Amino acid sequence: MHTPKTNKEIVKQLISEMQIDNPVKIMEVCGTHTVSIAKSGIKQLIPKNITLISGPGCPVCVTSQEDIEKFLILAKNPKVLITTFGDMIRVPGSTGSLQEMKAQGANIKMVYSPLDAVNLAKENPDKEVVFLGVGFETTAPLVAFALSEAEKLKLNNFSIVCLHKLAISAIDALLTGFDTDVDGFLCPGHVSTIIGTHPYEFIAKDYKKAAIVTGFEASDILEGINMTINQIKNKNFKVENQYHRGVNSGGNLVALNLLKEYFDKGSAMWRGLGEIKNSGLHLKDKYKKYDAFKKFDLSNIEVKLAPTGCICGQILKGQKSPTDCPLFGKKCTPNFPIGPCMVSSEGSCAASYYYAGVI
Ligand code: SF4
Repeated sequence: MHTPKTNKEIVKQLISEMQIDNPVKIMEVCGTHTVSIAKSGIKQLIPKNITLISGPGCPVCVTSQEDIEKFLILAKNPKVLITTFGDMIRVPGSTGSLQEMKAQGANIKMVYSPLDAVNLAKENPDKEVVFLGVGFETTAPLVAFALSEAEKLKLNNFSIVCLHKLAISAIDALLTGFDTDVDGFLCPGHVSTIIGTHPYEFIAKDYKKAAIVTGFEASDILEGINMTINQIKNKNFKVENQYHRGVNSGGNLVALNLLKEYFDKGSAMWRGLGEIKNSGLHLKDKYKKYDAFKKFDLSNIEVKLAPTGCICGQILKGQKSPTDCPLFGKKCTPNFPIGPCMVSSEGSCAASYYYAGVI
């Protein structure tokens, strides 16, 4: 009888097949990939001439400092109850973080879903409940669904800070605006469950680089690397789907329709990458009443930023690695983060700190 291979055997085989003569650079554009690569020690296991670099795949990390400062201002409003996912609460701004403001009595609550925020608005009619909408194509449909619930309930005291971004636009910007020197991408698995595989076709067609939609297990990532290497060896660039069990080519139509109903594409500010046209999701005009920055007159205020020495922006462009930062592991640690890449569980600096032998 045929005995199925163990995970260890699969990993060993994938590494033994990983051979190429020339140096190769592959970028992952997903925080979950970054953590999985660091946690499983893949960088140490693969041949030395294959370099893995992290791109702008962590939603908390790519949120611009200007936007962070704005929602910190919003949190000072005593009528406002800020609701957010966990990581955002610890991101430092010039006057501290939401967590520090909460300790001083500000109305800030961590939620596990945007729907929790809608329920809080229902239960607290005397408060203005604001959800911090940060995340890529994966999170935005959940926020759209929460907005549809708020519509049904006719809530006037619910709004969102709409900072959703499109991962695909960041890849495009890296290739067009920053001449990012990579041979291929491990495309984000979670985002791909929503958008499918077609949107990545320009990477192969226009830039002659590999684009492999990849899952999150160590064996998935190793297989994704091997698929990239095969494309490079054969000079046959295309979108390939390694993550068949999670992603189909057309994506998730229900989620895509929710995005279409609530959002228009518009420009967005990214940490490190600056303003990128059509890279953000803006609330459609008919849903503008849910836009917290508009509701509280924060859209056009100017924010002054003091230098911190953080190089998250360069790390997100793949130009530097966390250990290039002089603050890494010294002044900047997960307990005392200076930049978002050390706060977020998906950030490159936190992943390097926890899993690359720094502690
Ligand atoms: Fe920023 Fe800290 Fe990372 Fe340096 S180590 S880049 S300060 S988050």
